[in-house]
Amino acid sequence: MAIHPPKGTHDLYGAEAEGFRYLEEVLMTLAEFYGFTPMRTPIFEATELFARGVGASSDIVRKEMFTFPDKAGRSLTLRPEGTAGVMRAIVSNKLHAQAELPLKYYYYGPIFRYERPQRGRYREFYQFGLETIGDASPYRDVEVILYAITALGYLGLNNVVTKINFLGGAKTRDAYRQALREYFTPHIHHMCRDCQERHQLNPLRILDCKIDEDRKIIEKAPIINDFLNEEERAYFKVVTTTLDSFGINYQIDDNLVRGLDYYSDLVFEFHLRKNETEDYGALGGGGHYTELLQEVGGPALAGTGLAFGMERLYLVLKENGLLPAPAPEVDVFVMNVGKASVEDAFSILTLIRNSGYKAEINLDDRSFKALFKRAERKRAPLALIIGDDEVKENVVQIKDLAKATQVTVAYEDIISYLDEFYTREAGDDAGEKA
Ligand code: AMP
Repeated sequence: MAIHPPKGTHDLYGAEAEGFRYLEEVLMTLAEFYGFTPMRTPIFEATELFARGVGASSDIVRKEMFTFPDKAGRSLTLRPEGTAGVMRAIVSNKLHAQAELPLKYYYYGPIFRYERPQRGRYREFYQFGLETIGDASPYRDVEVILYAITALGYLGLNNVVTKINFLGGAKTRDAYRQALREYFTPHIHHMCRDCQERHQLNPLRILDCKIDEDRKIIEKAPIINDFLNEEERAYFKVVTTTLDSFGINYQIDDNLVRGLDYYSDLVFEFHLRKNETEDYGALGGGGHYTELLQEVGGPALAGTGLAFGMERLYLVLKENGLLPAPAPEVDVFVMNVGKASVEDAFSILTLIRNSGYKAEINLDDRSFKALFKRAERKRAPLALIIGDDEVKENVVQIKDLAKATQVTVAYEDIISYLDEFYTREAGDDAGEKA
């Protein structure tokens, strides 16, 4: 009986795996331009980290975590987001005391949430994220937004709208929560079950509700902006003025609260419209946090984080024809077509690989036609043909598959032939791009 993949998971291979690698490379390279360094944290952590870090009132902690006891009865959870693990790693390794502030890390890997699977929504999905910690300047928030917009621009996504909101500090949010609780009290019995729970736990979460009937009530709710103090207003002003000076297309969205409880002050999300009526959903988002590091046992250092969802980004690039053309799987396809040529063919294959070229060989007995098909499927620019006649002469035939031209090359000249061919190709490519 076939074993099915667990619900909400997906296997990555072929074009999608290549696409993910492309995305990772662009996001990672740019992160390094912005001074971020890599960090990898465990896929599972103590459940308490997320309960404390992400927040007991968040949907994630309430109902979306994959939590299980280990054999010693400790409660572990597959990470439902990346920031809490990075904070825990900073504390566990005392990085705040050893490294220069701000600490700047990027991460990439699977995230797990027990959500209802649908298009663009999985139970295991990949995020690329980054965190900057230990510098409370509003320019650090702007830096993260600029990184995101620049990265999306490199990927060809130039029409992204950045939604931002300013939630203020703990006092401001408390006062706002109280006002929301009072506002929603007469309406809450007509609202959805989730909103009723949110009303008890954290009425800010109600603003996130997507149900149309509830949205009509939410539209008239008090807005956070009216609760900000002078200092918070000044901070927000620096952010918006700087975004203006960089020509960033942003919208202030009073209902943007995001799904994780640790955010304070600035929150943001990156949206792309699919057409007049539809949005792809958030490609990524993040915000500022002031208490998170302390919450997990570290010093009082504020930070700003961002995470992109790789599945969403991939979908958007694919639907808009923005993925790069698939690269050749190999530079040379070695066609071993003789009865006694395999030994020489195999040594030549190894020499080619050791000289820095991607190469593959056939070790089965196939017709020329079948082998050329195979080379074509691997998008190989060159086929290197070796049969019994070639072995006798210590030569091979090298065929340029695009031009359909073929030359005889002595064993000892194979690598210099490849070097010349690929130097010429690189020159042609550079010429075309110029
Ligand atoms: P969050 O960690 O909730 O701030 O989400 C950051 C990004 O991760 C979102 O903008 C999505 O692109 C992506 N994302 C969140 N949840 C899922 C999911 N269940 N499946 C796929 N992508 C997701």
